[in-house]
Order: sequence, then structure tokens, then C-alpha cells
Amino acid sequence: MSYQGIIETYKALLKIPDEMKAVTLLEGNTPLIPVPAIADQLGGDFDLRVKFEGLNPTGSFKDRGMTVAVSEAAHRGAKTVICASTGNTAASAAAYAARAGMRAIVIIPAGKVAAGKLAGAIAYGADVIQIDGSFDDALSLVVSISEKHPIALVNSLNPFRLEGQKSSAFEICDVLGDAPDWMALPVGNAGNITAYWMGYKQYHEVKGTSLPRILGVQAAGSAPLVLGHPVEKPETIATAIRIGRPARGEEALIAASESNGYIMAVTDDEILKAQKILASSGIWVEPASAAGLAGLVKEVNAGKLNLCGKKVVIICTGHGLKDPDVITGQFTKPQAVKAELTELERIILNG
Ligand SMILES: *Cc1c(COP(=O)(O)O)cnc(C)c1O
Repeated sequence: MSYQGIIETYKALLKIPDEMKAVTLLEGNTPLIPVPAIADQLGGDFDLRVKFEGLNPTGSFKDRGMTVAVSEAAHRGAKTVICASTGNTAASAAAYAARAGMRAIVIIPAGKVAAGKLAGAIAYGADVIQIDGSFDDALSLVVSISEKHPIALVNSLNPFRLEGQKSSAFEICDVLGDAPDWMALPVGNAGNITAYWMGYKQYHEVKGTSLPRILGVQAAGSAPLVLGHPVEKPETIATAIRIGRPARGEEALIAASESNGYIMAVTDDEILKAQKILASSGIWVEPASAAGLAGLVKEVNAGKLNLCGKKVVIICTGHGLKDPDVITGQFTKPQAVKAELTELERIILNG
């Protein structure tokens, strides 16, 4: 039978209500793309792959959690969902709410959401409200609203989000035949690293697969889990991980240490370099999504990680199309020439 989305594929492993009907856009089943050229750049001799989560229906991994969170909300009879978002949660909540015939309300920090994400939320018909505050402020407001009113919270505090997000760990094990030795991913509100660890542990128990070591990567200007305290004014070009008080911070630290891995920070410069390296292998991701590779590069170059003979997976969480301004801001406009063959030849052949 053709692919039916993550709920249908993995329902035996998900803690969800029995009779729940799936609200799905056939999310998941994203490719695990070999990137041997990047492995070579890092000294070679290991198997490096990118799990390209930007290829989900709304362009980020958030769809894996949202299909479950919105299905469960609909199952309970909810008519409205709400979330705080740095952008991708908003677009995803908006799309799945539309699919379910529900209203979506999304609260975003003013001026800090990438153009492609905001456009998505609006295109899918969400009520978008900007607040004069941070993501962390937005999150505490939506939690209060969902406690006072019959409005379902679909941030990753909602346990059904993590149930869905586990599915990516299952897919990786299904493709590789086992867990990788190392897995690197960006860490923002820390739901995803928590969900991956839940998924790997569950597969380990049920299917006997191994457990990976996890490298969680934060942006240096927004690295509460590395610093050991909240960051009041988080700053980074990687807006999807611009979070100073991660809702699942403690679980993230446990996931990293139980896995025999750790959480580290990289600078915005290192993130943008990693974004370019991925693009040079044909994979364009938004800045936050390049953090996993940035962390790996930093640790390998510092001699802290020896990946020789290992299987390594980097999670690229969202598509580059979400945040085009980061790229267009780095370059001057393409040069303009007359629509003439000789003129074009002159430039191409001299270039
Ligand atoms: C949400 C998001 C993250 C961070 O995930 P958390 O679960 O909040 O840690 C990273 N990258 C992208 C593209 C995201 O949308």
C-alpha cells in the first residue's frame, strides 16, 4: 500500500488514543541522503548522512509532531489550536489545523520570524499575532490561554508532539538497519532531541537496535543548556533555535548524557559556514538546521571527535526556502546584462 504518514506507519509504537483518526499530510518518510563529499572534508573514512527534514509537507520536522497533536486535539473535539512559534511550528500548526477544519492561532515574537515561515502560516489561514516580546514570553502566554480556555496547545509541551517526532528515529533505524553511532542536531526548545532519544530507546527495547550518541548543538548567543542558566535576550541568526528558556531543557540534558553524548554551542559564523557546506552538496537548509553539522565540524577539527569507521547522521530540521533573506543578504544582486547572445557569451566565457 502507498505511504500513509507517520501515524499509520508507526501507530503500534505511538501512545495515542485507540480510535483516533489521523489528520495527515503524509509527513515523514524523509530521505537519509549520503554526503560523502562532506565526510571527505572532515577527514573521510566514515559514513555521513543527512536526514533532510526540510522535505516534510510544510518544510520542517514540526509536521511529525503536528500530525499527532492536531489529530489528538480533533479527537477530543477541540475546535481551535494555539502555539507560540519562532516560525516553523506556526506554519505546521496552521496547515494541520486547516486540514482538520480547525482554527489556528499562532503567537510570534515581532520581527524575529523568517519571511517564508510567516508567509506559510498566513497562507494556511492561521490567525497570526505578533507580540512585543520573545519566544519564551509567547510560550508562557499561550500556556496560560490554553489552561483558561478550550483551546488546544500544540507546542512541544504537548506530549503528543513528541510521540510524532519519535518517528524520525524509527525511520533512521529502518533505513540503516540499526541506530547510527553518532547523531547531531540543533537544540532550541529541546523537544526534538528529547523525542529522538525516546524513539531510539523504544526501538532498542522493541527491536533490539543499538543506541546512538547524541550531539546537541545550540547557537552561542542562545545557549542556555551549555551555560547552565536561562538566557534573557537570546540572539542568533538561527531564529528557529533563538530560545532562552527551553521548555524541555532538563530532558534534553538527560537525553544527551544518557546517550553518552553532550550539548555544545557554535557561533553564527560557524552555522553559516555549515549552511554553505551543505549547499555545496546540494542540500539547502535554513540556518538553525545547519547547527548539527557546524557542531560536528567544530568537534572534529578540535580533535574531540574521532568518527573513523562510524555511521553518523546529521538532522537538517528545516528547508532553506524558509529563510531566503539570510542568503540574499550575503550576496549582491546577480549582474544584469542585455538579452543578447554576444553580450552573454562575453560574460560567461570570461567568467
Ligand atoms: C523547531 C526547530 C528547531 C528546534 O527544535 P526544538 O525541538 O525546539 O529543539 C530546530 N530547527 C528548526 C528548523 C526548527 O523548526
